[in-house]
Amino acid sequence: MAKAGEAAPGAARPLVLERVRKMDTAVNLSNSGQVMRAQVAACTRLLNMAGILHYSGHVSVRVPGKEQLYIQSREQSRAEVTPDSILLVDFDGNVVEGDDKPPSELVIHTEIYRARADVGAVVHNHMELATAVTLAKGAEVKIMDFHAVRWASGVPVMREVGHIKTKADGEALARALGDADALLLRGHGLVLTSESAPAILADTNHFQDNLKAMKEALSFSSELEPLTAEDLARVQKFMDRDHHIAKMWNYYVNEGRKSGVIPEDWEVTL
Ligand SMILES: [Zn+2]
Repeated sequence: MAKAGEAAPGAARPLVLERVRKMDTAVNLSNSGQVMRAQVAACTRLLNMAGILHYSGHVSVRVPGKEQLYIQSREQSRAEVTPDSILLVDFDGNVVEGDDKPPSELVIHTEIYRARADVGAVVHNHMELATAVTLAKGAEVKIMDFHAVRWASGVPVMREVGHIKTKADGEALARALGDADALLLRGHGLVLTSESAPAILADTNHFQDNLKAMKEALSFSSELEPLTAEDLARVQKFMDRDHHIAKMWNYYVNEGRKSGVIPEDWEVTL
């Protein structure tokens, strides 16, 4: 006979509901200001949790149909941004909603959006491995991870060293980026472009994972053997970018909520 609190032999086990958290694979695609602010704030906190954004670097999303973007303020900790603290800024740098200054390298975002109608989100960060590639003679990004296929046509490098502060700096950066979705800034960091904040989160993690794979592979051999165009074409046939982005977004948002990185009281579906 089963003791109190124990299931009788053969009886269905009671489900421990907390442990059966359903993995949602949807992203909130609303272009409402509330959702876009929350996604920028969540993406910023999650990239901070990953050690990619820290005391500097920023995520933005374009407001569709307008010369405006959502971005965090200059001084606020990347660990503490909230949907309400995200600024609405126009492409000339004027703050439309919010009380603070935008980041000093805002022109990275505004000039990419002006030059590239296909870009919906931008991240600039100082990822250590990305900066290291720009300081290793002859080094370039090789595709070691099939999730890095997005950058298979090559990752350009902006050779001029320094912060990107003026409109002319931003225009030069957008020219250096060209049609690519990643740009290395020599001795400085990285810029990635994607369609949304959830996509920026996925792409940033994959960019770093690919560089880690490059570094690890070099510990086994002095010569890399990256994935070929044929390898990538075969894998790409089965890749569903929207589904993959949603899967990663929901995984990281869930992890962020469990660890308190994303407060439970944000009243918006991410
Ligand atoms: Zn920077």
